[in-house]
Amino acid sequence: MARYVGPSCRQCRREGIKLFLKGTRCNTAKCAIEKRNFPPGQHGHNRQKLSDYGVQLREKQKMKRIYGVLEAQFSVIFQRAALKKGVTGENLIQILEERLDNVLYRANLVLSRQEGRQFLHHGHVAVNGRKVNIPSFQVKPGDVIEVSKKEGVVKRVTDNLEILKDRVIPEWLTVEKDTLKTTVVRHPGKQDAGLPVEESMIVELYSK
Ligand code: SF4
Repeated sequence: MARYVGPSCRQCRREGIKLFLKGTRCNTAKCAIEKRNFPPGQHGHNRQKLSDYGVQLREKQKMKRIYGVLEAQFSVIFQRAALKKGVTGENLIQILEERLDNVLYRANLVLSRQEGRQFLHHGHVAVNGRKVNIPSFQVKPGDVIEVSKKEGVVKRVTDNLEILKDRVIPEWLTVEKDTLKTTVVRHPGKQDAGLPVEESMIVELYSK
């Protein structure tokens, strides 16, 4: 599966906000947004006023980058959201939130979605008792997500839970910290995600 392999912090600088792509570093003074909050590149200091199209494009780029999804995959996700009943923008958020790599991140089992993808590729995660190694796997209410019982994995997840103890786990997930089991209680909504993205602009962009 193709993935972005460039510098994560460059993506935050391009969007001008923290996208929290690198785990604990994002909350320290080493964060590139704290140190150099201007777009990367030779003309980074010359911020231009964006057109309506430019604003919509930036919202889409932010959303893609937050979830670590590439252009073609994002386009497919948007088409699925548009075909579902309900509000397309909210469907889009729900589909992205229900990705398994995001669920591991929201449950505080991993420090970033990127680490979640690594966990999955290494076969450390099972859903309803069956091993799943696909980051885009969609969870649904009632699903139970478990991490491997291997000593190294348990230690890493336990450490992550401790590091992230102050970060609130959204209500659509419950996490049993002793067994490291996560249950999906319900579908996530827009409010649960709390994204710094105006999803209606993405819908407008794709409607052109
Ligand atoms: Fe973004 Fe995190 Fe890098 Fe800061 S440290 S720029 S939030 S990825």
